[in-house]
Amino acid sequence: MGITKTDFMRGMQCKKMLWLDKHKPSLKVIPLEIQERLDAGNDFGDRAMAMFGDYEEMTVLRPGTSIPDKKAMIENTREHIERGTRVICEAAFSYYNNYCAADILKKNGDCYDFYEVKNSPEVREQYIKDAGFQYYIMMKSGLKIGRIAIVTHGPDESDPFVINDVTEAAKEKAAWVNENIWELNRMQKRPDEIETEPGPQCMEPYPCWYYGYCHRKENVQEEQENGI
Ligand code: SF4
Repeated sequence: MGITKTDFMRGMQCKKMLWLDKHKPSLKVIPLEIQERLDAGNDFGDRAMAMFGDYEEMTVLRPGTSIPDKKAMIENTREHIERGTRVICEAAFSYYNNYCAADILKKNGDCYDFYEVKNSPEVREQYIKDAGFQYYIMMKSGLKIGRIAIVTHGPDESDPFVINDVTEAAKEKAAWVNENIWELNRMQKRPDEIETEPGPQCMEPYPCWYYGYCHRKENVQEEQENGI
């Protein structure tokens, strides 16, 4: 099992977070407001698929589950790229088992433009890194990528899709991805738990869902000091 986009972004925030995702996911506590934000993001992403008109969606689920069948999605994507399908959504790629599913690919001459959809009013640095990871996997899989854009949520609900060109900044992330992806691959497979002291990474750029688990020692110490 390689690294996905989510794994990479979480592992770059904190290696222990990625290790816990792989070995002790039941310790995760996702606050309700975060879950609601994730659900709203999925809805916005679904709406954005039609922003360029007709499209083909590559999603394939394992029978009777909501788990994506990555192998089938990769094969589906390969066939549509060969066919030159104009707009491909959830386009799946793998490079040495590292995986991404790009929100929207749009044919542009002999290459595809890549659109990453975010339910946010503005472009953030994290989104560019995220697009950079996907660019790396697609480029290494042999796909020629032209423009890269982050689609943000604008104020006009009748046409909320705002296209922000980040081509240069996202492509520049490829070297950084290459420098880190192999170490994260090795680290996530380690049987012993990663020891990382809690610090600023527990809240930045996103609050960590293992906060309670990692801070339990501090909490116990505090309770003892306060005689609770
Ligand atoms: S709470 Fe902090 S130390 Fe623990 S996994 Fe999350 S980011 Fe890492």
